Amino acid sequence: MVLEKSDQYGGNSAMSGGSIWIPNNSLMKAAGVTDSRAESLTYLKHVTRGMVADEMLETYVDAGPEMLEYMLAKTHLRMECMLTYMDYYAEAPGGKPGGRSLEASHFDGARLGEEFERMREPALQELVSGRMSMTATEAHHLLARHPGWVKLTTKIMTRYWLDFRWRMRTKRDRTLSLGNALIAPLRLSMMERDIPLWLETGVDSLITEGDTVVGVEATQCGRKLGIRARKGVVLAAGGFESNAEMRAKYLPSPTKVEWTTGSPASTGDAHRMGTAVGGELDWMHEAWWGPTTVVPGEERARMLVIEKGLPGCIIVNKRGERYVNEASPYANVVQVMYAKNTPGVPTVPSYMVFDATYRKKYPCGPFFPASQQPDFMIPKQLRDGYLKKADTLGELARKLGIDAAGLEAQVRRFNENCRAGKDPEFHRGEGGFDRYYGDDKVKPNPCLAPIAQPPFYGIETYPGELGTKGGLKTDKLARVIKKNGDIIPGLYAIGNCSASVMGPTYPGAGGTIGPAMTFAYIAAHHAVIEG
Ligand SMILES: Cc1cc2nc3c(=O)[nH]c(=O)nc-3n(C[C@H](O)[C@H](O)[C@H](O)COP(=O)(O)OP(=O)(O)OC[C@H]3O[C@@H](n4cnc5c(N)ncnc54)[C@H](O)[C@@H]3O)c2cc1C
Repeated sequence: MVLEKSDQYGGNSAMSGGSIWIPNNSLMKAAGVTDSRAESLTYLKHVTRGMVADEMLETYVDAGPEMLEYMLAKTHLRMECMLTYMDYYAEAPGGKPGGRSLEASHFDGARLGEEFERMREPALQELVSGRMSMTATEAHHLLARHPGWVKLTTKIMTRYWLDFRWRMRTKRDRTLSLGNALIAPLRLSMMERDIPLWLETGVDSLITEGDTVVGVEATQCGRKLGIRARKGVVLAAGGFESNAEMRAKYLPSPTKVEWTTGSPASTGDAHRMGTAVGGELDWMHEAWWGPTTVVPGEERARMLVIEKGLPGCIIVNKRGERYVNEASPYANVVQVMYAKNTPGVPTVPSYMVFDATYRKKYPCGPFFPASQQPDFMIPKQLRDGYLKKADTLGELARKLGIDAAGLEAQVRRFNENCRAGKDPEFHRGEGGFDRYYGDDKVKPNPCLAPIAQPPFYGIETYPGELGTKGGLKTDKLARVIKKNGDIIPGLYAIGNCSASVMGPTYPGAGGTIGPAMTFAYIAAHHAVIEG
């Protein structure tokens, strides 16, 4: 059975992009992309920099493809290979230019009946106009304006607005994609098997007999319950991104709950319960980092995944100077943001600066490109304060509260290099990941264009994340372990409440849910056979 604290199921996973990173998977092979156990391990060992035990990486590489086969065979989940979505460090030994990241196929939410309404909604940044849903592959197609993008846009809009009967019922799109398309088919498969899911049932503590975990104490709508587990307890309660106290204690400083894009229900409950029975924590200072923007009036921050590397923008510190390759993987950007943050030259917050050409062509945070949403169509509350706009860079710098001379000098240097398509200092646009989110119509470097056309714009950006990744240390069977290495019988932990098998890195799109599903599969399998 599944016990869920909130009145909605799906957690951060339902809000997410729903991609899973499974190296050496069958779908990539069917699409003609080669991979092997050895290449996958080479890559993982390289990107985790020797900080994760080989045994854990080997388990992941072996069990990931097996988990996928099981899910495809036994549940309604269908996945598609993202053939051009490269590993985040594709140039590293064993890296691949695509195929290891998979995304959920569209799923008709109506198949869930009334249970559809109880699934957690996608994050705002995953929807068009806060309503329409599309796959990551479709979104990339539109953003890059590949041939056929107008037809695709029309198709998505028409599908949504002509769905008259559903429109009378809810504004939620029933053609699910991304995280909702991952969760909905799994929920349907649970329903068909009569696997109970109890909403509004928060687990408070673990029940032990001797050293063994034998059940949980929970609160259901104010009522205390004791539930005995015949086979085992799997903690799968997400990270601690929405717990201010834990953030202050464990994450690098400064940090705020407002900067996360993650789930409000991720309050570190499993961390507390697991440590109360002797579990050890690891990787608590790490998260699935990415620079975020806090949009007034929105419940969660948005991550600047795509917009930060598009040509015509830069990210600068308080002195108006660049300090990072903006187009590099989003986790990198925040790791550098923290590493370079000093009292003399703060990088928290940082400032994303762009010009009118960028604004006209590309979406940014909550804004459509100005070609579709001119400035006068931006809601007043965002025009006054959130988005800074000025006719000169100096004036923009003053509005942002950063050094004007520094910004002007930085932009002059940046523009000179852009014309040659070079970024000698930070090498933006040289890596495959950089170029994936670049604009291939911009030559010679799809990530570089001068910031030259007034008016100029700026927004603040913070060291945010998609969720935290530190948690209970587990062995290769996902069993929670103590400081002395002993296991706690009957107790498993998976996902963001467990110490991530990815350690300090983010290997590719789906690098968080891929391991969560794989170790969940291992835990359940072990509990059923051995429990
Ligand atoms: C916008 C966005 C896009 C993302 N895109 C991707 C992506 O494409 N691929 C990827 O791999 N990752 C992505 N991520 C990150 C990913 O969503 C998370 O890392 C992942 O979903 C965490 O999964 P989990 O199972 O650990 O937690 P969750 O999915 O959050 O599940 C935990 C559940 O436990 C419940 N819970 C908490 N406490 C208790 C308690 N005491 N009792 C009972 N229930 C409790 C919560 O309500 C929640 O439903 C994205 C995140 C965001 C925000």
